[in-house]
This record gives sequence, structure tokens and C-alpha cells, in this order.
Amino acid sequence: MYFDNNSTTKCDPIVLEAMKPFLEEQYGNPSSIYSLGVYSKEKIQQARKEIADFLNADEDEIIFTSCASESNVCAILSAIQSDPSKKHIITTSVEHASIMETMKYLEQLGYDITYLSVDQFGRLDLQELRSSIRKDTLLIAVMMANNELGNIYPIAEISAIARENHILFHCDAVQAIGKMKIDLKELDIDTLSFSGHKIYAPKGIGILYVKREIPYVPLIFGHQEKNRRGGTENVPYIIGLGKAIELLKNHELDNQKIATLRDQLEEQLKTQIPDILVYGDPINRISNTLSIAFKGVKATELLLVLESFQIYVSTGSACNSYEEKPSYVLEACHADLDNYSPIRISLGRYNTEEEIEKLIKGIVKAVAMLRKKGSRE
Ligand code: PLP
Repeated sequence: MYFDNNSTTKCDPIVLEAMKPFLEEQYGNPSSIYSLGVYSKEKIQQARKEIADFLNADEDEIIFTSCASESNVCAILSAIQSDPSKKHIITTSVEHASIMETMKYLEQLGYDITYLSVDQFGRLDLQELRSSIRKDTLLIAVMMANNELGNIYPIAEISAIARENHILFHCDAVQAIGKMKIDLKELDIDTLSFSGHKIYAPKGIGILYVKREIPYVPLIFGHQEKNRRGGTENVPYIIGLGKAIELLKNHELDNQKIATLRDQLEEQLKTQIPDILVYGDPINRISNTLSIAFKGVKATELLLVLESFQIYVSTGSACNSYEEKPSYVLEACHADLDNYSPIRISLGRYNTEEEIEKLIKGIVKAVAMLRKKGSRE
């Protein structure tokens, strides 16, 4: 039973089906001018249109990349080249590692980075954002939804602040895509990233949206993607991503179903287990995520006991779950990790009510076992 959909999702069989011909007989290079290549090129354009329409963007604002990490890094590195005289960037203390590591790199190059703080629920204070703005602020980078907590950040307000102050705005929408409406004609965002493998497409394909008016300096040079991202296009994965986006339209109701299951799960765990703490914003939270801790129970131990019941959850973000270091996102929330170390449960399209019941039973049993063991030690 898989409950780690913020980490990655299972590829939808319809997506796989759509990709298959491009791994078999339709192997043409989209740059070739004979029909095998032209066919690949046309299909890429169709996928691009599907994605652009979904985001209410224009087709030439969509660049295919290898993953959202690449998209994030490219957006930031392009932004810094747009005005080398400006050396200040504002981001948050809860961004994904791909943003955080890029910021650390920029610090080495002499940039000054402001990491906005969050409160115990992981919420931002927009007043802090306003007062952090300086004459030399070049870029604001804030995610749409957080991978560990599920918090949704007020992107419309943040983009308005960026606009008023003539600052570029980058948004990591990896955990938001498919879970909430993203209309890029309504939201004034300059660059935005997301990834295929969080929406039932394969790993290894990402999107970077670059608003038409924004100058873009590529990281990988080459003629593909209108000179903005070199390298022969990953045709099968691009087709898969186009299909996954198309499928999101048929799955609009999934979010309601998933939210109901998540709320049931939270409710039941709170009633059946004493001394529980739920992390994150209880109001502005994506439908599928629950970050929950059981007093005195170590998340890593709980994860292993649950695994022995064939239940997969995470201890935080997948990217740092092998590290012994506590999560910087939870540290930013001043979490009492010695007593309340959380597991992250992130539901997806394929989870059923039956599975949720088994998950509740599994957690109740595992927490009781671990608390008993802890009291004996
Ligand atoms: N941004 C967020 C918020 C994420 O959760 C992730 C993946 O976990 C990424 C970026 C990176 O995505 P990718 O694996 O496509 O590089």
C-alpha cells in the first residue's frame, strides 16, 4: 500500500500506453526533416499545446526539461543574468533542496539571500516579505505548495508584491500541479516549474514555464526548444507528460475524494491514538498530505514497522530521507523533533477507502508497539 505520492507517483497505464509507440516504431529524432522525425516533432507540439492550455499559457512559454530540479536551477540562473547589478534574492526557509542548494551556490558567488521565516504551522508572513525588499532585490522564489507539510502559499499576493516592486518571481509548482487550479494568465508569475513524476508520468521529465516577456538565458545550449534547452528531446516522456496533463482533466474529482480520505484518516488517528501532533497549515493545505507525529515515537522506526506491514510512508521529503539530519523544513517550524518526529502520508489517485482503513489499523498497531517498547527501554 503506497502512501508516498509527494515523493513520486505510479505511472498511469494510459500514460504508458501513449508513450509506447515512441519507444518502439516512432523513434524519429524531432530535428530530422523526413517524416519519421516530423511525426515526433508534431506530437511534441501537441503535448506542448496540451500543457500550455492546461496552465492557460502560450505554447512558446513552455520548455521541456529533464526534471523540476533542472527547471528551478535554470529559472534562477537565468534570472541572475538579467541584471548583474542586483545581488539580493528573497526565498523561504522551506523551499525544495533544488532551490536551497542553488541559493547556497549563489551565496558563494556573492549574492545576499533572505530566507523568509515561517511560523510553527509553516506559514509565511507577507509583512516580512515586504520589509525584506531592497533596491537591489532581483528575484523572489516561493513554492506554491510545500512537499513536506502540504502548505499552500499565497502566490497571487506574493506575485503582486513582486510586480509592484519590479522584481522577478519564480514559483516551484511541483506539489501544486493537479491538486489546485493554476491559471498563468491570472497569476502573474514570471517562471514556474513542475515535474512529470508527481502527476502519474515517468521520472525524468519536467517543465519550465517562462513568461513571454521575460528574457531567458539557457543553461544547456543547443537549437532545441527554440534555443532555450539543448539536447535531443525526450520524445516518449514528453508524450507521456502531455497525456498525464490531459488525464488530470478527467481526474478533477480525485482531489475531493482524496481530501475526504485524508480527513478521515486524520480524524480517526486523532480519536484512536493519544498525544498526536499534526504539522502544517490546518487551513491552506493541499488535499493529499498529512504530516503527523505520535509523541515519543521515532518516525524512522515507525516507517520500518509500517513497511513490515507492507505500508509505505515517508519521514519527510524523499530527497533527504536517507540523511540523518533532521528536516530543515520542520526545523524552520521550530518543531519539537525529539518528542514529535512526523511521518508524511501523501495520498494519490489509486488509494482506496479500504487501504485507508488498513493504514489506520497499521498505524494504531505500530504506535502501540513502539510506545510499549519505548516504555520498557
Ligand atoms: N520541488 C518540489 C516542491 C518537490 O517536491 C520536488 C520533488 O520532490 C522537486 C522540486 C524536484 O522535482 P524533480 O524530482 O522532478 O527534480
